[in-house]
Amino acid sequence: MNQDRNHNRVLDAIWGLDLDTLYCAQCRSVHLVSGGLAPEVCPVCFSSVTSVEAGNQSSGLRHEPPELIIPFQIDAQRARQALAGWLQASWLRPNEFNPELLSKRLRRYFLPLWLIDADVEAVWQAEMGYHYQAASFREHYQGGSWVSQQVEETRTRWEKRIGTLKRHYDNVAVPALEKHERWVSRLGGYDYRAYQPYSTSSIDASIIRVPDYAPDAAWMDAENAIDQIAARECMQAAGADQIRNWSMNATYTHLNWTQMLIPAYVTWYREGERYYPLWINGQNGHIDGVKLMSMSKAWLLAAAIGALAVLCFLLGAVLSIIGIGILLILLSLFSTATSGFGQHKTKP
Ligand SMILES: [Zn+2]
Repeated sequence: MNQDRNHNRVLDAIWGLDLDTLYCAQCRSVHLVSGGLAPEVCPVCFSSVTSVEAGNQSSGLRHEPPELIIPFQIDAQRARQALAGWLQASWLRPNEFNPELLSKRLRRYFLPLWLIDADVEAVWQAEMGYHYQAASFREHYQGGSWVSQQVEETRTRWEKRIGTLKRHYDNVAVPALEKHERWVSRLGGYDYRAYQPYSTSSIDASIIRVPDYAPDAAWMDAENAIDQIAARECMQAAGADQIRNWSMNATYTHLNWTQMLIPAYVTWYREGERYYPLWINGQNGHIDGVKLMSMSKAWLLAAAIGALAVLCFLLGAVLSIIGIGILLILLSLFSTATSGFGQHKTKP
């Protein structure tokens, strides 16, 4: 790996830490690394150590520091214990698939989310649903006659509503990575309500993934997210129980993009030429990774079992031959004895 680091002084000053910028030519991911702890391999693709190198891609990074951060609730010690427990059930493990090495490689890792602030002015329309109780009668046959029974049921009355909205929205979270859903799904989900204000100490000795989903690309997600929040607010303001056929014609101004960081741990092992990552959710301890069986060890085991089988076969064959030999000797002796006895009896 090219260990040269590109210190970006602008980033350092704004984020409050010395940050190295790492660019992977293989998967094009960009990371900021604090504490001078550059990873041995790309934390995303792990395809090759030679694919990770420092570069000038930091010039394309947005310089805003994170606004919010979800703190680690699983400390490194608990993460290591969880990892050791997770490994226990696997057997014929590759040499590198051991708790000591995986713990040694364990790194704090932050995934990004965009946070958007916006002023919204809109005209909206929707159908608001209001629940009410209605009585009805059900007939059933009982004891030779029809019986009528009154039952209460919840029905919805729909009313068309049109209104205006003028609101400021703060910190609406939207994906900052193209594969955000896949990442969060692998890591078992997060409770975003546990956020805290960003502080320099919270990212110390960490790898921070840089967004690859630019605000322009993420705007559609942001608009949808604001749209859903507005619909929910208008439904509550109208005192309704349900909403349908919602539409909003809005203008958005004073857009401000910042980031929220969500915590994880990453470590990895190698079998043959391939790298296998293990991810741990820093909030709930969920572990994602492949429990690989070592093919070389499996082959050795298969060869040992095969050799044992051959040995058993040969031993059986030898014993059979010895057994047949003994039988032939006994038969020969018996035949000889019988023959001698017969000659003795017939002797004149
Ligand atoms: Zn990569």
